Amino acid sequence: MSARSRVLVSACLIGRECRYDGHANTDRVLERELSAAGLEPVPFCPEEHGGLGTPRPPAWIERESAAAVLDGRDRVVTEAGADVTREFVHGAQGALDACRAHGIVRAFLKARSPSCGACHTHVANQLVEGRGVTAELLTRHGIQVESVEGRRA
Ligand code: SF4
Repeated sequence: MSARSRVLVSACLIGRECRYDGHANTDRVLERELSAAGLEPVPFCPEEHGGLGTPRPPAWIERESAAAVLDGRDRVVTEAGADVTREFVHGAQGALDACRAHGIVRAFLKARSPSCGACHTHVANQLVEGRGVTAELLTRHGIQVESVEGRRA
């Protein structure tokens, strides 16, 4: 299989128990769709890559947006108020590095995550329209990001 047919996939969507609560979001529909399309998933969890362990406290973008986080105008914080911006940005950069290493131009990312959310994410502990930090960075660099609900049989 050529490197062009690889796609980045949120690791929790294909069975890794890397969610903040230690569970997975295994999505059998996505697995079948990727297989049928001849696409090879490259699993990646930005939050684990960034150095946050599993399980870990839930976190969200503090005030504005993932774009503001990447531009240094906002933070990512846990529910206890700890600043995990550096870990989220490092994880996003790792996802971009993985795409470049594998020649990846598409990513299938878990919906609503503060890292992976491609259409909605969490700001100030509210679900809002917008991207997570990893989805925002990948989009800035021309990677096509697609939102996957997760947990479909
Ligand atoms: S949504 Fe993204 S950051 Fe969260 S567990 Fe899944 S792969 Fe990791």
